Amino acid sequence: MTNKSAIEVNGRTYAWPKRPLVVVCVDGSEPAYIERAVEMGVMPFTERMLASGSDLRCDCVIPSFTNPNNLSIVTGRPPEVHGISGNFFLDPDSGEEVMMNDPRFMRAPTIFSAFEAQGAKIVIVTAKDKLRSLLGNGLNYGKDGSICFSSEKSAEATLAENGIDGVVEMVGMDVPSVYSAELSEFIFAAGVKLMRSRRPDFMYLSTTDYVQHKHAPGTEGANSFYAMMDRYWAELDAEGATLVMTADHGMNAKHNAAGEPDVIYLQTVLDDMLGAGQARVILPITDPYVVHHGALGSFATAYLPASADQAQVTATLSALQGVEVVLSKQEAAERFGLPTDRIGDLVVVSAGSKVIGTSADRHDLAQLKEPLRSHGGISEQTVPMLSNTRFEGLDGNRHLRNFDAFDLGLNYAVI
Ligand SMILES: [Zn+2]
Repeated sequence: MTNKSAIEVNGRTYAWPKRPLVVVCVDGSEPAYIERAVEMGVMPFTERMLASGSDLRCDCVIPSFTNPNNLSIVTGRPPEVHGISGNFFLDPDSGEEVMMNDPRFMRAPTIFSAFEAQGAKIVIVTAKDKLRSLLGNGLNYGKDGSICFSSEKSAEATLAENGIDGVVEMVGMDVPSVYSAELSEFIFAAGVKLMRSRRPDFMYLSTTDYVQHKHAPGTEGANSFYAMMDRYWAELDAEGATLVMTADHGMNAKHNAAGEPDVIYLQTVLDDMLGAGQARVILPITDPYVVHHGALGSFATAYLPASADQAQVTATLSALQGVEVVLSKQEAAERFGLPTDRIGDLVVVSAGSKVIGTSADRHDLAQLKEPLRSHGGISEQTVPMLSNTRFEGLDGNRHLRNFDAFDLGLNYAVI
């Protein structure tokens, strides 16, 4: 491995990796998942790792959704810098809801593309293809180039588009269903194979939260998933890699005592207040894969008509049971580090078990097979920051964020 000097990316400086750095983003990994799995003895490697390495907690980005947080982790900065503040935003020019899963919406380079330009070898494996093109933005593929693919589309990976072909044969697993624990296992199985065959400088493995949406911490369904990850993490550790594990967001039960989703239908509330269709509620959790969360999360943004009395709307929404905070665009941008042009006039965050929907007829709750578990709010902000190394010289009072993962792994890890 070449010994190169530090690199500046998006205003932060990162040392060149002395050995492979593997950052794992465990989707929806509320800290209790690993805490309970370790207590219950199903993560023996992680238990040993945490005893000698690092067992920290940090805050994710709000909205506590997948894309804003994955992009924050790989750029080292919040959404106000990289631009991806959710899955959807309202295009001010067209008035249309636009899906933000295209690289053209990114406003900052990734840490990977900056290091690749200086000769680093990069491997990225993610679960769903919706994230793959964002994570791999700016990378160069082809022979001896970077590698970036999703387990979802692993059978279609090509040297030109993904830097690798024959992935399914290499991994030795069938391509898993997009709604399965195996979709995430495939990532780790591929990661271990590629660590052995390619020994990249950087590896980023980002899972899907299918399991966490269905299973609470400490349950059989959760523990078997975490036991699976533990086995692969042990293999990556044995290869001599620095491991840093964090999460894009936590996960909480979001249902009432009867097991029904505990929903505030915000579009309905605003229609009653301002007239039908006057305000537009955007749920940035909405994506093409809604089976496991019914497009219900704890964060919404609302565009108000010019005639609306914003102070009065804010006061009314703030008084709704289960609303944690209602912020103006400017307040939300400052507090959460969000781009002002991609959020509405108001940001509404629900607390604890509550989620925010548009109107009852626009959510197909029949698809939810288990009582709803979801995320998006401040209640899902605390996530793990774990490593097989200690972080030397780290200020104990520093407010750690999940997007400090590369800073910690490159600048503080004791190797
Ligand atoms: Zn997620």
